[in-house]
Amino acid sequence: MAEEALTAQEVPVGCVFVRDGRAIAEARNRTNELRNATRHAELEAIDYILSNKELTPEMTEYPLSETTLYVTVEPCIMCASALRQLGIKEVLYGCENDRFGGCGSVLGVNESLRHPKHAGYKATSGYCREDAIMILRRFYITENTNAPVPKSKTNRVLKTEIKPRKGSPSSG
Ligand SMILES: [Zn+2]
Repeated sequence: MAEEALTAQEVPVGCVFVRDGRAIAEARNRTNELRNATRHAELEAIDYILSNKELTPEMTEYPLSETTLYVTVEPCIMCASALRQLGIKEVLYGCENDRFGGCGSVLGVNESLRHPKHAGYKATSGYCREDAIMILRRFYITENTNAPVPKSKTNRVLKTEIKPRKGSPSSG
């Protein structure tokens, strides 16, 4: 899904939601296409799951309590919060999101922050981390045609070295 986002000139983030060993929804970032900064991969997939009567037969406070999310980049603060509101079971992500990460990088929305109602959820980084980093680099090395004044990046070289995560003995 991240590859599809890259092809569509979106920041390449993709995700899959899994329940009972089955992929029930997959989505990718669509913020440029829809000109809507909330259209992250996670929320796109959540919209699909909640509006699908087979996947969500009735309204409940914890519709994702049996569902695991795999996503290429650490969910941002907005998505991490939405996932908590919906009682996600667990999250596995590829690389850290140093600017907006809501599962520990900027804020620990997943479990560090107190919430009067919704329990925290486990979020683990390092799942296909190198692939997640490399696809982001491939995106940022190309011209951003949506920028008002495109900057020339023609001299940039794709870096392939990946440093281990800070404070992590093994990046998996
Ligand atoms: Zn997000």
